[in-house]
Amino acid sequence: LKWPSARVRKAFFDYMEQRGHTIVPSGSVVPYDDPTLLFTNAGMNQFKPIFLGTINKSDPMFNLKRAADTQKVIRAGGKHNDLDDVGKDSYHHTFFEMLGNWSFGDYFKEEAIEMAWEVLTKVYGLDPKRLYATYFEGNKELGLPPDEEAKQLWLNIGMPEEQIVPGDMRDNFWEMGDQGPCGPSSEIHYDKIGGRNAADLVNKDDPMVVEIWNLVFMQFDRQKDRSLRSLPAKHIDTGMGFERVVSALQETDSNYSTDCFTPLFKQIQQVTGVRPYTDKYAKDDADGIDTAYRVIADHIRTLSFAIADGAVPNSDGRGYVVRRILRRGVRYARKYLNAEIGSFFSKVLPALVDHMGEQFPELVKKQQDIKEILDEEEEAFARTLDRGEAQFEKYAAKAAKDGVQKLDGDVVWRLYDTFGFPVDLTQIMAEERGLEIDENEVNAAKEKAREASKAVKASVDTFAKLDVHQIARLEQQKVVRTDDEAKFVKGDS
Ligand code: ATP
Ligand code: MG
Ligand code: MG
Ligand code: MG
Repeated sequence: LKWPSARVRKAFFDYMEQRGHTIVPSGSVVPYDDPTLLFTNAGMNQFKPIFLGTINKSDPMFNLKRAADTQKVIRAGGKHNDLDDVGKDSYHHTFFEMLGNWSFGDYFKEEAIEMAWEVLTKVYGLDPKRLYATYFEGNKELGLPPDEEAKQLWLNIGMPEEQIVPGDMRDNFWEMGDQGPCGPSSEIHYDKIGGRNAADLVNKDDPMVVEIWNLVFMQFDRQKDRSLRSLPAKHIDTGMGFERVVSALQETDSNYSTDCFTPLFKQIQQVTGVRPYTDKYAKDDADGIDTAYRVIADHIRTLSFAIADGAVPNSDGRGYVVRRILRRGVRYARKYLNAEIGSFFSKVLPALVDHMGEQFPELVKKQQDIKEILDEEEEAFARTLDRGEAQFEKYAAKAAKDGVQKLDGDVVWRLYDTFGFPVDLTQIMAEERGLEIDENEVNAAKEKAREASKAVKASVDTFAKLDVHQIARLEQQKVVRTDDEAKFVKGDS
């Protein structure tokens, strides 16, 4: 392998260091001091106080002008949620590394573009003909000018005009929130096939033309009244998808065929005895085994890094995302790989620690904790799963008998509320059977259950005043369930 993933990372650090950047460690993937965020979803998160000008003078980063790192990122909830793509496509993970370089009031657009170009074409040696750059086309309504400067800089560097593509707000304008630092971005995309002009395929979800690097030019400060002021100090914030660039360098169609994932697949195969991974998708993956491999390899990364940084599976917020991810993975392992459930994930864990422990020593340090938490959660879920799947089968059989291709929202909600079976798992199972679920129906059922539990609370308050006949009638209507009972069921889910 000419470009093992470790070398890809190191070459980036070496280059950035040579260009005056301090290489800093990744920030925690669990953002303790940012309640607005479920997980760290971009490299810039840990530098936010610098951009906002709220950084403490005593902070070692106070005088930082140029920094670079690889940031641990989780996108499985909140503003960025890539969970539903995992298993299905070849380039979205819930956990990934984002290589990044930053300038805090130091260099700006020209140098940022030049450095990115040099890294990709000189350091990594990628073919310049396969690289495409996007720039912000402007937005009249919002009074945002097109970023002609970025376009010109790409031309200056020698990129032919046919490889430069305008982009809209969604793809090419970055904002931290409704107010504060923001600016246009320029993204670099890579054509994995080559020998053609692929400009039309940029930003079109084509798995062979993938976005690899986002360069954000923070030059405006959005005011309360939505108007834009120029920032006194302009900043650069870049994020390059590590697994994607590794895939480009290892010349694989998919991120999953790189050494970021193959050691995990090997371990999964050893643990389950299933056939080797073949990188098939959707209908081509007839037995679902490759999809399961991808889901599990992705999820063990997310789970291990989240737990290493202090997240635990539980029933709210962040913890609930961790719980759902574990359950999703476990189900794939059981169903498609015939894995024995209870300590499956922790048996895959050593391969991850082996492969990534050097770059991320927290994995080594916390290995035992991760194992224990995974095992405990998995065992508890194995029990829920047995019950829930049996119930699901009943409803699926009924749907088949009635000749309907749909699972009622009531049923979906009942599986969760009564049997602790998560809605997203029901969705996966329903999809496999070609059964549709109407999300509005599920929400309506949820709302109805909430109303009912409110009514129950009211009825419990007046319980003492009821006579036996009234109680019997309520029981018949099945509304005698206390809030505590409801909580117990939910907590068990
Ligand atoms: P995409 O359009 O492919 O979903 P994005 O525009 O959401 O990517 P950015 O927010 O610009 O991504 O993040 C910077 C870089 O991180 C991207 O250019 C890409 O290389 C990488 N990246 C983003 N999401 C993922 C993911 N889910 N898995 C792996 N890499 C990712
Ligand atoms: Mg995205
Ligand atoms: Mg994008
Ligand atoms: Mg992007």
